[in-house]
Amino acid sequence: MKYQRSSALFAEAQKVIPGGVNSPVRAFKAVGGDPIFVERAEGAYLYDADGNNLIDYINSWGPMILGHAYKPVVDAVIDKAKRGTSFGMPTEIETEIATLAVSMVPNIDKIRFVNSGTEACMSAVRLARGFTGRDKIIKFAGCYHGHSDSFLIEAGSGAVTFGSPNSPGVTAGTAKDTLLATYNDLNSVSRLISANKDEIACIIIEPVAGNMGCIPPKKGFLEGLRELCDEHQILLIFDEVMTGFRLAPGGAQQLFGINADIVAFGKIIGGGLPVGAFAARAEIMDFLAPIGPVYQAGTLSGNPLAMAAGLAMLKELNGNPGIFDSINKKTEYLHRGLDQVLSEGGIKFTINRLGSMISVHFSENQVEDFESAAAANNNTFKKFFHGMLDQGIYIAPSAFETWFICDALTYEDLDRTIAACGKLVENLK
Ligand code: PMP
Repeated sequence: MKYQRSSALFAEAQKVIPGGVNSPVRAFKAVGGDPIFVERAEGAYLYDADGNNLIDYINSWGPMILGHAYKPVVDAVIDKAKRGTSFGMPTEIETEIATLAVSMVPNIDKIRFVNSGTEACMSAVRLARGFTGRDKIIKFAGCYHGHSDSFLIEAGSGAVTFGSPNSPGVTAGTAKDTLLATYNDLNSVSRLISANKDEIACIIIEPVAGNMGCIPPKKGFLEGLRELCDEHQILLIFDEVMTGFRLAPGGAQQLFGINADIVAFGKIIGGGLPVGAFAARAEIMDFLAPIGPVYQAGTLSGNPLAMAAGLAMLKELNGNPGIFDSINKKTEYLHRGLDQVLSEGGIKFTINRLGSMISVHFSENQVEDFESAAAANNNTFKKFFHGMLDQGIYIAPSAFETWFICDALTYEDLDRTIAACGKLVENLK
């Protein structure tokens, strides 16, 4: 496949946009080469500026769970746009999507919409601090909760891909209130709680980590966090930006049967438009302005186009619960197929999967936390990425990312992907 026009567009972009991209991991820095410029996408396929078509395993990093340009979502947006694109005043559709989201997700009474996952997590933490009157938070190394200051401490995803899990610009004053624990290690959390008694407002976690590749929680880990939080009056925040409306209609809370105190959403809840949200029981949510003291706001929050896309998406998922089973089965099929060809090729690898989140680490050891994810062989990953891309298959351009399976993928697409992987195993040695 040829990518001349993408490379030319990238050269132009770099003149006026830092690094040529508006979000770092798009730049292919971890895998080398120039990023691909997309012209349009439909179903499971991306169509790029050079006329190539690619099977898409990223799906805009998660939102496009039903595939690209999904008709009910697109129609809803077009219809809304004709009636004005932003008012800065309340609209009925905000209550409609809020009501539906609250009915789908366990243990939440109220939800507030924002414009990104970053905003959702940032606001969730502010709310937790305001509610508890405490300053410190616990996060896990390798988890990513957006780019707000408190979270850029040993962050995952693009932050670690670019070697800056601790970003300059985050003050020491802010960093000191973020305590770091090890994913899947309850003792690391207990130690921090003991050393900071009555000072911790919340523990924020990706219930299935997706920003160091996919790392599912070990049995008992999330349950243990819930118990520790109850014991020490700490709020448990599930960052369900990736897992929400993906692992189950009610997300990880429903899948694992564990209640969080505050839940953050993004990605799917906006149907591919810029949306985030955070939600909790009424006693916590009513701490927010205008009825409570914790301030949080947004000119474009609850934007009608974004709400129309999100509502159409949630209606589809709510009305067709078989979708979850369908994408899980497709992901399992892919898992088994990749597992087989990589094993037969004698490659050292670990595939982690939960539901429709999956990633391949080139390590023979179990990958269960940031350290084990970082120990995998990145050179092999680079060869894997480019080998797949050369055959028209677009996977995440970093080993610290998860692939998100969409329901538009056919078993034929999956077979093509597995065969492509089989073809390149020799080059991975
Ligand atoms: N939380 C998680 C778990 C994420 O994966 C992301 C983004 N990938 C965010 C928060 C931030 O969301 P956004 O990029 O929409 O700000």
